[in-house]
Order: sequence, then C-alpha cells, then structure tokens
Amino acid sequence: MTRALVAGGGIVGLTTALALRRVGLDVTVVEQAPEIRSTGTSLGLWRNALAVFSDLGIADRIRAVGRPASMYFHDAAGRLLETPEHGPADHDYFLANRPLLNDVLADAVGRAHIRLSTRVAAYTETADSVTVHFSDGSADTFDLLVGADGLHSAVRTHLIPSAMPRPHPGHHTWRGLLPPGAADVTGAAMTVGHHRCRGGYARTHDGGAYWLVSQLGSPTPTAGAKSEALTRAEHLNDNGWNDQLLTVIAATPDDQVLHNPITIVPPLPRWTSHRVALAGDAAHAMSPHITAGASLGIQDAAALSHHLAAHPDMPQALAAYESDRIPHYARVRTLSDAVEHYRTPAEFAHRYAAFTHWMINST
Ligand SMILES: Cc1cc2nc3c(=O)[nH]c(=O)nc-3n(C[C@H](O)[C@H](O)[C@H](O)COP(=O)(O)OP(=O)(O)OC[C@H]3O[C@@H](n4cnc5c(N)ncnc54)[C@H](O)[C@@H]3O)c2cc1C
Repeated sequence: MTRALVAGGGIVGLTTALALRRVGLDVTVVEQAPEIRSTGTSLGLWRNALAVFSDLGIADRIRAVGRPASMYFHDAAGRLLETPEHGPADHDYFLANRPLLNDVLADAVGRAHIRLSTRVAAYTETADSVTVHFSDGSADTFDLLVGADGLHSAVRTHLIPSAMPRPHPGHHTWRGLLPPGAADVTGAAMTVGHHRCRGGYARTHDGGAYWLVSQLGSPTPTAGAKSEALTRAEHLNDNGWNDQLLTVIAATPDDQVLHNPITIVPPLPRWTSHRVALAGDAAHAMSPHITAGASLGIQDAAALSHHLAAHPDMPQALAAYESDRIPHYARVRTLSDAVEHYRTPAEFAHRYAAFTHWMINST
C-alpha cells in the first residue's frame, strides 16, 4: 500500500488525509501542536468546499458545526450593494466554527492516524521515496509527503527555499467570537465602508456572535487590538446603522480579540517534486478579503486525490496536480487582485461576487 505522510493537522491537512485515504493510500498526519486546534474563530466555507466534504461522506457532521449564511455587502450608510448579475447561489455560504470543524475532521481521519507534538523538520528524497526527519530526531520513509503545514511551511521552505512569506502591506484584520447569550445578535451584516475598511457580524450556529473588521492600506496599529477594531468599525457606521457591530466588539473581552497583520505566500514556480506536494496555505496563503483560502485549500485535497487515482505513477500524478493548480491559482490571483483594488464599495461587491461565482463553479 502507498504510504503518505501529511505534514499539518489544519483544515487542509486533515481533509487531504481523508481524500488520500479514499483513493487507497495509507495516511498518517503529523501536527506540531500538542492538540488539533485552530487559530481563528469562525470560517466561511463556500459550495465548492462543501461539495468536497459531501464526496468524502462527512457533510452531515460538518453541517452540525455551523449554519448556512449569505454574503451581501452594505455601504457605510446601510444601503444594500446589489449585484443583480448574481443570484442567491453566489452569495450563500456556510459559517463554521473553526475549532469544532477541525475536531470533526480529526475524528473522521481517526485520532490513531494523527501524531501530535510532531514537527516535520526536513526531508530527503530519492526517485522512489521520501524520508521525513522529525524534530524529535526520528525519521520515517514514505512514498509521498504532502506539505499542508500552513503559511510558514517547513516543506515549502525545503522544496523552494526562495519562496518566503511576505507581509501584505497595510492589511490588518481583527476578529472575535462571543458565546451564546453574550450579545443579542439575530442576523448578519457585512459592510464596505470608508478608508478601505470592511467588516461585520453574524449570529453563529449556537446563538453566539462572530465579528470581523479589516482594513486595507491601514496605518500601523498602535493601540490595543480591541481599541483598534473599534476605531475601524467607526468607518462602517454612518448614521448609527451598524451600532450592533460596535456593541459586539465592545462585548468581547480584550484578550480574546484576535489581530492579524496579513501575510501572504507569493506565487510559486512549482508545487511538487517527484515525491512531495504542497496544499493549502503552504502553497497559496493569500489575502483573506475574498474569504476563500480554506475553501480553495479543501479543493487542493480533492485535486490531489483525483490525480493520484488517475495516474498510478507518483511523479506523473504530482506533475498533473501541479499543472492543474498553478494556472488555477493564477486565475484566483487575478480575480482577487481585482477585488482588492476596488474604487467604490459597489465595485467591491460586484467583483467579490464575480470571484465567488467563478470559484464555486470551478474545481
Ligand atoms: C483573518 C483571516 C480570515 C480568514 N477567513 C477565511 C474564511 O472565512 N474562509 C476561508 O475559506 N478562509 C479564510 N481564511 C484563510 C484560512 O484561514 C486559511 O486559508 C486556512 O486556515 C488554511 O488552512 P491550512 O490547513 O492550509 O493551514 P493552517 O490552518 O495554518 O494549518 C497548518 C497546520 O500545520 C501545522 N504545522 C505547521 N508547521 C508544521 C510542521 N513543520 N510539522 C507539522 N505540523 C506543522 C500547524 O500547527 C497547523 O495546525 C482567513 C484567513 C485570515 C488570516
């Protein structure tokens, strides 16, 4: 049986393990952390990602850790930014609880197949195998190594040493998650406001609330995370229409406001070697203004398993995977850049819907 090691027990690594097992591989996941966890709060997943979970037979379990939602944008005065060229299917997504989602995936993989507190440090590759060296000094040999080890991927660093993550200049996000009862949030609203600020809130599946505020071209934050989030949220709140957003931010304990200066991975000249492949943020961590990194990474898992099933020869399968993914992500970048360089909130809404429409109808 073909033995595969997946580096990284995040959403993409765990989904990759399930997808590879389905095409007959014997898969082990290694995760550097002592537990399966997830940084972040809530995660918007689109139809393309849900279709992969459906194919993997876990759609019901995923549905239990989130709720359906719709992504429509308003301007700072509360006016709906309509996109009549796109129907409801281009706006519908699924708002999942990130840690619960990763738990569902880890259970589906089977905890016995996941080695925690184990970090991939390096690998050596021959024509027939890849020997993976772990941070505890041990090593093991596999037929395939998948680097799903995120933004600061050790596997990518080994495969393409020049491809270092870099800041997305001036792009900052602040997020929070409130438990049920902490705030009275019934619906959801997303706003594209002044000063290239964007943000909103949504009720979560358990009756709590999720909020997000971000700014492109932001001045360097100098105050505490909550204070900075409240400052940006003012740019989304002409006439008090978005008071609810300020209320949920204010209700979030200071130490639970998550601030991310955004960092991205530049386009890679290659994704694979004969025995090694990248997937998810390790290959394409991108600006989250398109709310799509995880959904796209989940599709990587499906694409990799598809090519492995189609090509019995491993190097051929990985070459086919790379030839499929690199042009796909060139298109992602073109559409994502168009959204980022919006001139008006209405333009943001149209371009965002155009990106989403393309993504959910692609593989
Ligand atoms: C503010 C923000 C909001 C976002 N919102 C959305 C959204 O709504 N929808 C969406 O689709 N995407 C969103 N994204 C993007 C999304 O979070 C990522 O694309 C996704 O989490 C990537 O998953 P991953 O499994 O590739 O990487 P990660 O989630 O980073 O997982 C990598 C895992 O590998 C482990 N690891 C790292 N190095 C090693 C090693 N050497 N050995 C072993 N293990 C290792 C890490 O501990 C981690 O568990 C957002 C991103 C940001 C920053």
